[in-house]
Amino acid sequence: MTILGHHIGGERVPSTSERLGPVRNPATGEITKQVSFAARDETDRAVSAAREAFPEWARTTPIRRARVMFRYLELLEKHKSDIAAVITEEHGKVLSDATGEVMRGIEVVEYATGIPHIMAGHYTENVGTEVDSWAVRQPLGVCVGITPFNFPAMVPMWMFPVALACGNTFVLKPSEKDPSAALILADLLYEAGLPKGVFNVINGDRPTVERLLEHPDVTAVSFVGSTPVAKAIQTGGIAHNKRVQALGGAKNHAIVLPDADLDTAVDGLMGAAYGSAGERCMAISVAVAVGDIATPLVERIAEQARRLKVRPGTDPEAEMGPLVTSEHYKKVTSFIETGLSEGAELVVDGRGVQHESYKGGYFLGPCLFDNVTPEMRIYKEEIFGPVLSVVRTDDPEHALDLVNNHEFGNGAAIFTRDGEAGRQFVSRVQAGMVGVNVPIPVPVAYHSFGGWKASLFGDHHMHGPEGVRFYTRLKTVTSRWPRDGSRGASYSMPVQN
Ligand code: NAD
Repeated sequence: MTILGHHIGGERVPSTSERLGPVRNPATGEITKQVSFAARDETDRAVSAAREAFPEWARTTPIRRARVMFRYLELLEKHKSDIAAVITEEHGKVLSDATGEVMRGIEVVEYATGIPHIMAGHYTENVGTEVDSWAVRQPLGVCVGITPFNFPAMVPMWMFPVALACGNTFVLKPSEKDPSAALILADLLYEAGLPKGVFNVINGDRPTVERLLEHPDVTAVSFVGSTPVAKAIQTGGIAHNKRVQALGGAKNHAIVLPDADLDTAVDGLMGAAYGSAGERCMAISVAVAVGDIATPLVERIAEQARRLKVRPGTDPEAEMGPLVTSEHYKKVTSFIETGLSEGAELVVDGRGVQHESYKGGYFLGPCLFDNVTPEMRIYKEEIFGPVLSVVRTDDPEHALDLVNNHEFGNGAAIFTRDGEAGRQFVSRVQAGMVGVNVPIPVPVAYHSFGGWKASLFGDHHMHGPEGVRFYTRLKTVTSRWPRDGSRGASYSMPVQN
């Protein structure tokens, strides 16, 4: 059986560690590969490779770094279906969705090709008499990315194209559940001409992450994953003097006002709740139905949910694939039990979906709870599966309070035909990414991605201008070229009169 190792210093290397983890096909439950969990010395080797490559890469002109990104773009286009296929094989999402994920990652590479322009500093002539000042942004050094299972290509690509284009070197620790895409992304970077050691992939689990967090040569850590781990990464990273951005979990709400276009709301909620089996940090997991739209909304969603095609991701007709692992399946189905015991009404029960030829797969059909209340655990906690909870209220203000009082603040959406209501929502909602009649408002590459509250720890969102700020530090220069020698020492604060 294939054992996936690491990518260090420009090539794939086998692991010397004896610790291995299984990589499964979620549609069959079969173990298809194993992945190495890096020992401390292997993790250190990856960081050393990145540290040694840094000075030369940082000195490489931005246009040359951009040219590597241009070549990378061509290779990604050429290989996007191979990457998507491996995502479907290890994650389970349907192939069209996996292809979409790769495309959204490619958009960040497109953004990174503009780095000579994006990194341009600013200059002021004569901040004092014949004194000039300018500001530039310079790379940080060795940056680390730690990424979740649910977007094995796109989330790493939120990070490293921007980090590399800015002149940093990088060590990526992908999810141990679906590690193959990261290794292909590394192969293609080197095919595009990246100098050896600039990008490295180290596979592993918690001890690998802990070593990266404490390593003295790591300067910055980008993390995406669950909230408890995000908090630990932020605390641990800061304790070791790293710059940290740590994106956590979510419980994204969509408010549906009585005047909303019902077709738009139903279609939007179906895709946002059940696409990728709900394993998206921007999935809508709570619909707050205001007033008398609630009953037709629930009826229409239930009707469509019952017809949804839950099949292996390789089936061209599949609309939703299996969950990622049996542990995750058990976690999500235990939330169904919890919801029932809490008194929510299970209108559509996705349990019991089976496929003759895929009996070992982790298939769970769409689940729909009605009459959910804010005290329930199924409302408060992130389920991360195909489970949509509907909360009913008659008061639009109460709907907004629900969103704003929730622990998480990743994304939030409103469905309405009233421009004023939409505008008020945008202005007052406590969330980092907001949609108006757009259920999954994922920012494009040249804007930045990130949530508020327990959905993000740190100061910077990812990719776009915020990514450039995160992966660079500011240097401001004040300069004079005196013609007549020194004018003597001055002991008071220089001011402009
Ligand atoms: P996870 O937190 O279990 O794992 C994320 C990464 O951290 C993996 O690489 C894993 O190996 C590592 N890790 C796990 N436990 C660790 C520990 N105790 N110490 C150090 N490292 C550890 O998350 P997951 O299950 O892979 O992904 C799903 C979660 O990610 C969900 O909560 C989802 O909302 C979140 N997510 C958030 C965003 C966002 O942008 N906010 C995007 C995607 C996913």
